[in-house]
Amino acid sequence: MKKMYLLAGLSLLATPLLAQRTLIHCGNLFTGTGNTLQPQMTVVVDGNKITAVQKGYTAASGQDKVIDLKNKTVLPGLIDMHVHLESQTRRGGTIDNFTMNPADVAFRSAQYAKTTLLAGFTTVRDLGGSGINVSLRNAINAGLVDGPRVLTVGKSIATTGGHADPTNGYKKSLQGDPGPEDGVINSPEEARKAVRQRYKDGSDLIKITATGGVLSNAKDGSGPQFTQDEVDAVVKAANDYGFAVAAHAHGAEGMKRAIKAGVQTIEHGTLMDDEAIELFKKHGTYYVPTIIAGKTAADSARHFGYYPPLVVPKALAIGPKIQATFGKAYKAGVKIAFGTDAGVFIHGYNAKEFEYMVEAGMPAVEAINAALLTNARLLKMVDQIGSIETGKFADIIAVDDNPIQNIKTLQAVTFVMKDGKVYKQ
Ligand SMILES: [Zn+2]
Repeated sequence: MKKMYLLAGLSLLATPLLAQRTLIHCGNLFTGTGNTLQPQMTVVVDGNKITAVQKGYTAASGQDKVIDLKNKTVLPGLIDMHVHLESQTRRGGTIDNFTMNPADVAFRSAQYAKTTLLAGFTTVRDLGGSGINVSLRNAINAGLVDGPRVLTVGKSIATTGGHADPTNGYKKSLQGDPGPEDGVINSPEEARKAVRQRYKDGSDLIKITATGGVLSNAKDGSGPQFTQDEVDAVVKAANDYGFAVAAHAHGAEGMKRAIKAGVQTIEHGTLMDDEAIELFKKHGTYYVPTIIAGKTAADSARHFGYYPPLVVPKALAIGPKIQATFGKAYKAGVKIAFGTDAGVFIHGYNAKEFEYMVEAGMPAVEAINAALLTNARLLKMVDQIGSIETGKFADIIAVDDNPIQNIKTLQAVTFVMKDGKVYKQ
């Protein structure tokens, strides 16, 4: 019986479907491959792929379906290199660690994923949660949950008491002694084990918290938290599995160790000094600024009781500095990838980051491209996403205005297609 069923399924798949193309008529098209808009274009979508990009408004024939975006600017789906889909900031939210079951986290993460997709972000890197993000990715891929394509680290890797030690701030009797399986390491050997555990868990890449961080319930927000040989071991083990490594870093020393070890991206980068900037350029390391997260954390810290007392001074000291650091790094020639740290602010506001990048001196078109082909290359998905070109996944969004002249228009995405399916129109 089982075999019969399988055969029947196969023959169904083999039956050619009636060709139904979707013709998207674009008032203006930004393909992501250049720096200008092209007026009056048609993007042809067949199944989940883009099959042609044509000048003018191609007339429908036969079963063709037309989507009229003649008064919109159409762009590739945006890519965010730094989100946390398992959580979202709120006043006093630290208590959630003690009251929420994994299923509570899972239902919330499904909502955050949908919000992110509807904001125009069709691919994201989830840079740390409990591992529910792996299940979320799988559920999205299986069509059970609406969300962006997710590449996830699963659980971040930290050292004991470090930024991503999951028991920070717990009373002693609840702390236990988390180890490599929980993403906590204290030697090169444990670093290797933690990376291999992430591989076993189904992660797509590795994240380390190379320095202290703002929102962990711990005193230090910027000092180095990995020795050089520990971070070297993480990167070497990650390379064996084809994993890129993303390193959270605020302070310069931990940042330098991570860059020397060969991480792909530095997240936040707040206190980078001139020597760090030179190292970025020498090693070709990308900087993911997350300006919006710094600003939001600082704003939230001004509201009494929003964060635990240990977090407040860190948020006030570090948060407001990121935008200026970004401006300096950009002008010095550091390579920039777009990422926001969504979850530290309310999901769906990711595109506000573009506005902050432009404010700090980056031309709008460069900021947009940082969220397209730059990120697609870093994700090793440049043949599939990041531009509107024949053969790529049909990840397509639209906005009302010209984003090169008005970057804020990206904060109000009016049309979203992912993988050929329309989610917002
Ligand atoms: Zn983060």
